[in-house]
Amino acid sequence: MGKVCEKYSGLDKIMKIFNPKDIIPELINILLKRQIHFNFDLLPFLGKDLSNEKIYNFFIAGLNQFAQQPKPLGYPVIAQVEPVNFCNLSCPLCLTTSQTEARPKKMLSLNAYQTFIHDIGAYLLLLVLWGWGEPLLNPDIIKMIQLAKSKNILVHLSTNGSVRLSDQKVEGLVNSGLDSLVFAVDGATQESYSSYRKGGNLNLVLSNLKRIVRTKKKYNSHFPIITLRFIIMAHNEKELPQMKKIAHEAGVDFFTVRGEAYFNDKNNNFSKPGNTRYQLEHNEKNQASFICMRPWKRIIMDASEEIIPCEFDYKSKYSFGNIKNNDKVLKIWKGKKASRFRKEFNLGTNHFYHCKSCIHKIIKNEFCNLETMTI
Ligand code: SF4
Repeated sequence: MGKVCEKYSGLDKIMKIFNPKDIIPELINILLKRQIHFNFDLLPFLGKDLSNEKIYNFFIAGLNQFAQQPKPLGYPVIAQVEPVNFCNLSCPLCLTTSQTEARPKKMLSLNAYQTFIHDIGAYLLLLVLWGWGEPLLNPDIIKMIQLAKSKNILVHLSTNGSVRLSDQKVEGLVNSGLDSLVFAVDGATQESYSSYRKGGNLNLVLSNLKRIVRTKKKYNSHFPIITLRFIIMAHNEKELPQMKKIAHEAGVDFFTVRGEAYFNDKNNNFSKPGNTRYQLEHNEKNQASFICMRPWKRIIMDASEEIIPCEFDYKSKYSFGNIKNNDKVLKIWKGKKASRFRKEFNLGTNHFYHCKSCIHKIIKNEFCNLETMTI
């Protein structure tokens, strides 16, 4: 098992749009080979056969970090889409569990998704296909991946894996062109696993994982790249070596250790690990100087079809618009509501309910993922 990285910069570095340090070494690749390597979520991605539109927009959109205009330059390069906003599990520290009243249960329609991708797919490099909820519960998830792939967009999906998957679904996940599939598994025994992943079944998760790995072998496919992601907490940190062994035996590509920042007194069972190496470092002092580019860099559509400035706006309170109203996605992204929001956002973020205790503001680490290892 080799270590890929503990901390390294990437396309998603802090809240900037792109870091020149990452982009300069890629210039030749982008301009001559029409390729780009980047890291997202501490995982490596490779975009290939980039169209002129994608390349041109990539550079134009990058200028937003210098201007931060209410009406952004270019179009978004990263999109996040929430296929469903509910889950089959009830993890105590997840907003899907704690904020159920704030959000009526919704499943994103294929129709809305198609409109979204048709409108902006030509510019996107990466699609993050999850929000607050379990994406594999959306019956159209394979079609969603296929559509994004038909527009040459890299697709990154995370699942709890504790979902009954038909053989057809497993084959679909492998043959859809999905680039990256993360399995979130936080325990090596059913007892510790389900103490956090409430309602989850570890055997089912591992069986799904192995079925996908077998199916990849059957089709001799490298994709999707599979990551087993372990949120490290006090109650499961002793299982880390066992988890690495499980990851190795299952045949995944990467094993990622992730930190959690929102431990609270009500959840005494879930506290930070004793090993300081796996604790997210808090950043109390520098919060005032924190600059977030999220409303410029990533376009987000929630399961209610609202275009929102950040996935933490789980109430869609600051929605830029809803595609149900037949508005073009790009018109919403550059529209009056969005511009008003960004203008206010430029003055400071603390009065936005979703930004007050934003994880990116309170931790020093670039990502919640702390370590990525090849298996
Ligand atoms: S919660 Fe606010 S500060 Fe945090 S990433 Fe979202 S928009 Fe940025």
